[in-house]
Amino acid sequence: MFTLMALPYAENALDPVISANTIGFHHGKHHKTYVDNLNNLVKGTDLEGKPLEDVVKATAGKADKAPLFNNSAQIWNHDFYWKSLKAGGGGAPGGKVADAIKDSFGSFDEFRKQMSATTVSQFGSGWGWLVADAAGKLKIVKTGNAEVPLTQGLKPLLTIDVWEHAYYLDHQNRRADYVNAVIDKLLNWEFAAANLG
Ligand code: MN
Repeated sequence: MFTLMALPYAENALDPVISANTIGFHHGKHHKTYVDNLNNLVKGTDLEGKPLEDVVKATAGKADKAPLFNNSAQIWNHDFYWKSLKAGGGGAPGGKVADAIKDSFGSFDEFRKQMSATTVSQFGSGWGWLVADAAGKLKIVKTGNAEVPLTQGLKPLLTIDVWEHAYYLDHQNRRADYVNAVIDKLLNWEFAAANLG
């Protein structure tokens, strides 16, 4: 059985950028629904009992497996999103992530500009990502709906959810305000460093 990941912080920890009200719906309703759906969908299939990431990879790009992919990938994406955020995060990182950002983007300001612009410009529902490619170079990519960069050979380091349910209660149509506040105040650089390896 797949389970709903416990939040790594209290529902109000990310306030005021992301309110307890938003997190209550986002984690307790939207994220939980993907878990409930996937548990129903895998029943009796050859994917029953497989790890989540295996389900995501086995169903990616297969039209007849779209419900399995959408729900498994959305669980993976949300687990990753909650860990990408922390109270008192954001701003410029230190250590090896700072070095990788300087090598890949030239400066933290350039990273910030690209992370914001690419994530804000995702048309419709989706995600903005900081990833590392196979050569270890960092890039910013966006994905639509449930799509996830790990099916494209990219290693995710951090993500920002830009489905409207992630920000509409707090910021309404002002997606850029939400994205910029996440970058400046909530990104969990320790999580990015652990993912960079
Ligand atoms: Mn979401």
